[in-house]
Amino acid sequence: MKTFEQNWLDTGLGFFYPEICRFCGTERATAKEGFVCRRCWSQVRFIRPPFCGRCGLPFPGDITTEFECANCRGMELHFSSARSAVVARGIVLEAVHRYKYSRELCFEPFLADLLIREAKPALSGGQWDFIVPVPLHSLKEREREFNQAERLARHLSKAVKIPLNTRSLRRVTPTATQTLLTREQRAANMRGAFAVRNNASLDGARVVLVDDVFTTGATTGACAKVLKSAGADEVCVWTVARGL
Ligand SMILES: [Zn+2]
Ligand SMILES: [Zn+2]
Repeated sequence: MKTFEQNWLDTGLGFFYPEICRFCGTERATAKEGFVCRRCWSQVRFIRPPFCGRCGLPFPGDITTEFECANCRGMELHFSSARSAVVARGIVLEAVHRYKYSRELCFEPFLADLLIREAKPALSGGQWDFIVPVPLHSLKEREREFNQAERLARHLSKAVKIPLNTRSLRRVTPTATQTLLTREQRAANMRGAFAVRNNASLDGARVVLVDDVFTTGATTGACAKVLKSAGADEVCVWTVARGL
């Protein structure tokens, strides 16, 4: 039997949305193309080396040796590495915002596709046990009706055949939006925000943590910390987009 979500992806989108690019509003783009025309699609900037070995921050220049950026130096991030598919700019940033805050679900296939394209080859053969999305606090989830990280993680889980785990990690405090906070304020804001359920078995687990956007690593770092103290062996992070 198909889930509600599959049905909605197969038929719902084509039915509810006209086959027009959601960005430029002029070129033709089908549901299969994620409602993004070729011209708009060509603006997407994939993250390619050189980038920070820890947080994936792209670096303009020709560095060939491994390096860590200024953000990561002097910050305990608790994950082994964070990678993002694309730069959070232009149409990607617009898609993330419209998806997340205006619930324009038509952007979901586009965003999920970007994540899968880059994460799938990187994760294959990595012996990962779970994909864990960054959770929303239950109050916030009710308000917004969906957790964008969880929905994107679900698509990735299906594509890479690593089980989705939404039970183990939870958000215990409803944290304020981070957009206007500094790096230090973000880290403080996230302290104690997450917890692992008592009965969750994470001993020796290798976990892929998924979120929509990576900015300073405060959120994913806080998640990685509790996952590791609950016994996880390694936590890597994948997000659709990387803020610069
Ligand atoms: Zn377009
Ligand atoms: Zn870094």
